Order: sequence, then C-alpha cells, then structure tokens
Amino acid sequence: MAALRRSLGVFLPASNHFLKSSLVANANANPCHLTPSRGFKLDGCNIDADSTSHDEITKIRNEFEEAKKNFLNIPAALNEMPTMNPEGIYVNKNLKLDDLQVYGFDYDYTLSHYSQHLQVLIYDLAKKHLVHELKYPDSCLQFEYDSKFPVRGLYYDRQKGCLLKLDFFGSIETDGCFHGRRKLTLDEIKELYGTRHIGRNHQRGLVALMDFFCFSEACLIADIIQHFTDAKLDFDASYVYEDVNHAIQHVHRSGLVHRQILAEPHKFLVKNERVVQFLQKLKEKGKKLFLLTNSPFYFVDGGMHYMLDDYIGKGSSWRELFDVVIAQANKPTFYNSEYPFRCYDIEKDTLAFTPVDKLLPNEVYYHGSLKSFLQITKWKGPEVIYFGDHLFSDLRGPAKAGWRTAAIIHELEDEIKIQNSESYRFQQRILDNNRGLRVEDYGRYPGELLSSPWFRPN
Ligand SMILES: [Mg+2]
Repeated sequence: MAALRRSLGVFLPASNHFLKSSLVANANANPCHLTPSRGFKLDGCNIDADSTSHDEITKIRNEFEEAKKNFLNIPAALNEMPTMNPEGIYVNKNLKLDDLQVYGFDYDYTLSHYSQHLQVLIYDLAKKHLVHELKYPDSCLQFEYDSKFPVRGLYYDRQKGCLLKLDFFGSIETDGCFHGRRKLTLDEIKELYGTRHIGRNHQRGLVALMDFFCFSEACLIADIIQHFTDAKLDFDASYVYEDVNHAIQHVHRSGLVHRQILAEPHKFLVKNERVVQFLQKLKEKGKKLFLLTNSPFYFVDGGMHYMLDDYIGKGSSWRELFDVVIAQANKPTFYNSEYPFRCYDIEKDTLAFTPVDKLLPNEVYYHGSLKSFLQITKWKGPEVIYFGDHLFSDLRGPAKAGWRTAAIIHELEDEIKIQNSESYRFQQRILDNNRGLRVEDYGRYPGELLSSPWFRPN
C-alpha cells in the first residue's frame, strides 16, 4: 500500500475503513459472505458498504487525478519556482547591518583566495618530506595530487585507515567510505563498522579534515594507504596519519609553502577587485575593520600587496583599510586562552617585550587572546561580525563570544548551481509532491527566506 501511495503521489489516510474491512473480510472469509462491490454480511449482522465504497473509490479517483495533474504540470510549475543566486549572500538569522560597527576578517581563503596549484604544492612538499625525512619508500615520489578525490569535511579513522563522509546524524554516507583510494561497498562498511552509524566511542578515533589545506592531506593519506595495501605491507593506519600530518604541518610552519606562494604569486593567488571595493565601502561608512589571522605577517603583507595594489589608489596601502592587524593569532586557542598581545617589529622581525594596552592602526600585533582583545577595544559582541572559512577557527569560537559570523563557503556556489539545474528541480518537485507540498505553497514565504539553502518549508 505504501508503495502504491508513493507511485501515485497520493496519501491515503491510515484509517481507511473500507480497505481495512475488505482485507479483514478476505482473510476471514468464513463465516463472512463477501460481496465486493455491494457490501458484505457477517453472521448475526448486516453491513451495507455500498455508500462507503462508492465514496471512497470516488475520493481515491479524485486524489489520483489531482496527483496526475500535478505531475503533468511540473515542467510549467518549475518555471514559476525561484532559482537561487550562486553568488548570493544568504542568512539563517535576521541581521541588521546598521547594528554592525566592526568587521573582522580571517586571511586565508577569506580575504585571499588560491588557485588549485596550492593543493599540488602542499601535496608535493609533504610527499618529499615523508620520503626524505621520514624515510617512506622512494616509490611514494611517483604520487600525484588528484583534485577530484578530496572534499571538505572528511574524517579519517585512525584505527581502520578509512576516510569517511558522515551525514548530519553521524552516519557514514552510502558512498562515503574509502580505504585508500578504493570505495567500500555497503556490505563492506557494515562488516567493518557493524552499522553505518558512528557511535560516540568510535568518534574519538576520528580526525576531522576541515579546511582547504586538508585537501592535500586527505589525498596523501589515501594514496599512501593504497600504496601500502597494494604492496601488501603491514602498516598501522594511525602512524600514516601521524606522519602525513607531521609532514603537512612542517611544510606550513617551516615557511616552505609561504615562500613558494610569494615567489610566484600570479600562480597561486587570485586577484579580486571587489574585495577592495567592499573594504573601502565599509571604511567610508565609518566601520571599524580588523584582520585576525593565524598566518605570519610577511606572508599576509606580500599577498595583500599582490592582490590589492592594482585597485588601491597610488600612494595608499592595504594597511590603511584596517584599524587593527593581528597575525599568528593561534586560532581557535585565541578565543579561550589568555595569551598577551605582543607588538611585532616588521623591520627587525622581532617581538617587543613591552605590554600591549592599546591596539594601534599603524602597528602589527602577534598572538593575544579574545579576552584581551575585547578589554582593549571595548567592542561589544553583537556589534562585531567576523568573516572566515573555518568552522572552528572562524565560526564557532567567535559565535561563543557573541560575535555575528559570516561563513565563506566555496562549495555553496557549485551546490546552488546544481540545485538550479532542470533535472534537480524536477526531482525536487516530485519529492515535494509526494510530501503534499505544492508549488503554490512557496508563495507563502518571503523571497529572502526561499533563497536560504537552509530553509525548507515544513
Ligand atoms: Mg582561513
């Protein structure tokens, strides 16, 4: 019956007396004398189902005709459904821009954007570190970064050596489990994990690969595990993670990646005039701007000059756009630690010993903490908005401080394009039909709500 309902797009009430009675009567044919279209007679009582059956059949027929009409109308109805702007700004909570006086920004993948060459660079540098320093087999040097393999938000299972994509409820997605580069079948997942749901105990063994720099890490982990598996080498999956993570950290902290990017900025950095226009507009409106990044100042300074100098007036510098610049902030520790700020000498590349009790626009500060930042600036939580791309470093920490947050989600652009496609919208419309939703229902909601990817009418 459920299948029948689905195929028709019709919802029958669960308490359908006619059908229930018929089924019960059929199953217990004796002592019941059934006359299908004209009612039936039980020993000791007469039941006239004529009127009931006629009404119900008419109702079912009407519902079927209505569902059929809706289905045939889908192509026309799709034209009436609004599409979303892939470059739009979406909100999941009301935000009054007038109330915002302070705009904070992360640097990497927020103000600065990188080409895919960066993932290749990190992958190659880490791969060489594994071979030359950690004595992995020379054959690993043959590996090549595959941009089609990793996505953001994967988890690595240090015990089993699998890369996992979990859904909102913490279950492994049906096509979201890879051992090395091989996708595991549903049966293999169940054999390995017992169930697709990852319990709390098991979650402790997972490592989150959250930001864009993790793309290279995820790909390198998978390539090494595949290589060891193919070579039938005995290995501990947790060591693979430790070593790859160590190599990735090394190429960042040693400055190898930063120096390479600054040596060839045209290859790695993406210029965008609209960033300058946006920042200048905020300044003109009297807003305070601050930069809070984990990257070292020389790297940020070099990148900002390359990306913005063409669009900023001659004789001006990107530094004039910001009221406070904080580098090497050590987010997310920044939000709950009590590290003091230290003034950074750009010329000498040294940190001053004098205590910091004010944050001046023409200075650069290192380290620090949110507590100290709020004490010095006196900026109140709700008047601050912070832009970033990292769930923990840029969104969760600031949100706890009462700041408003803006997430830069690169994947959203492609997701929205997919959701705007004819085939996706057609399937969505059929689903909505089956949920009892109609296109007309969308008209009840304001346009801006409809545009939110998080919004679905109930
Ligand atoms: Mg970032």
